[in-house]
Amino acid sequence: MSEKVKYLIVGQGLVGTWMGHYLQEKKLSFKIINNSAMPSATKVASGVMNPVTGRRIVQTWMIETVLPFAVNAYQNFQEEVAAAIIKKASVALIHPSIQMKESFDYRLNHENVYLKKNESPAWKSFFHTMHGTGEIDDCYWIDLIQFLKTGRKKLQAHYIEDQFEEKDLTLNANSVQWKNIEAEKIIFCDGLESMGHSYFKALPFAPNKGEALIVAIEGLPAENIYKSNIAIVPWKDKLFWVGSSFEWQYQDREPSLAFKEKMMAALDSLLKLPYHVVDHLVGIRPANTERRPFVGLHPLYKQIGICNGMGTKGCSLAPYFAWQLIEHIEKGIEINPEANIERFAHLLGKK
Ligand SMILES: Cc1cc2nc3c(=O)[nH]c(=O)nc-3n(C[C@H](O)[C@H](O)[C@H](O)COP(=O)(O)OP(=O)(O)OC[C@H]3O[C@@H](n4cnc5c(N)ncnc54)[C@H](O)[C@@H]3O)c2cc1C
Repeated sequence: MSEKVKYLIVGQGLVGTWMGHYLQEKKLSFKIINNSAMPSATKVASGVMNPVTGRRIVQTWMIETVLPFAVNAYQNFQEEVAAAIIKKASVALIHPSIQMKESFDYRLNHENVYLKKNESPAWKSFFHTMHGTGEIDDCYWIDLIQFLKTGRKKLQAHYIEDQFEEKDLTLNANSVQWKNIEAEKIIFCDGLESMGHSYFKALPFAPNKGEALIVAIEGLPAENIYKSNIAIVPWKDKLFWVGSSFEWQYQDREPSLAFKEKMMAALDSLLKLPYHVVDHLVGIRPANTERRPFVGLHPLYKQIGICNGMGTKGCSLAPYFAWQLIEHIEKGIEINPEANIERFAHLLGKK
């Protein structure tokens, strides 16, 4: 005898947790399948929401919409689970070169919403600041480990610890069957794993390897995120996350000695404080060539959907696009065309 639900979600990373949250809020029936032993990008991410990006310090895609949406969503989530999840933490910029200082000064005077002058004497006592300092306002830090943990607890009644395998899935005319569950829709929030199954493997995923060191830094306050040619982000247990790398071509998914040495050399030249390395993390970002998410229902199989491809911006994009996909299915609102997988109908539409 099958249990009938409206939604079956595959994956409880950042995206799957937000899907579960909104389905719960809307009192829709659902189950989440997740294999917690599998790698998850969310478990190793630094959890920063930063409205500007790159060498030119420009605003990130859709930030004026997704950032206020995400801040509100994490604050509501935090209240519901009664645990600290989101913290406002401006980015202390320690300019790594004269060119980066010039970029910052230029942006400060042109279409600037988020940048501020800041020559804090405290920062000068922690870091070598020969090219000066500045600040990015309106940045946030998400405690992703706490988010996943409290999310799991909150979604417990819907959660199934299991491995999804395509051989267990049958498509009916208007539903799917997975083991003893019949669902009107199955939504893949399984990160990188979507690349491997037949429904969405044609999407232009471009996985990207990122590593980070977990470091104890004696005397560095955890109020700020610090950014130079590396990022130093407050982590749990008074430690700091230091990274990262962005590798499109990689041989394996292992932590590399080359990365560790590179980060330690960067810390040696940046920090005036003593530090020691306590851990080395690695993850693969579910990125893509266009740097836009994959959201929507399959053009041939309307009972199958995806919310994925969040790349380097999962924290700010996931709440908004999880919400948008559910609103699309439930109320027919339009999915942002730049994120909608309809744009790949020519790739997905071939049987
Ligand atoms: C080093 C690094 C640093 C990052 N820093 C940031 C940052 O500061 N800010 C930011 O916004 N983003 C950051 N990111 C990106 C961010 O981590 C991702 O965009 C986001 O976590 C993707 O979430 P997801 O839910 O799509 O995937 P995942 O977190 O990978 O979740 C997928 C889930 O599906 C489950 N799963 C997969 N396949 C199966 C299966 N067959 N059966 C059962 N379960 C399955 C997995 O166990 C996992 O729980 C970083 C990424 C890396 C690697």
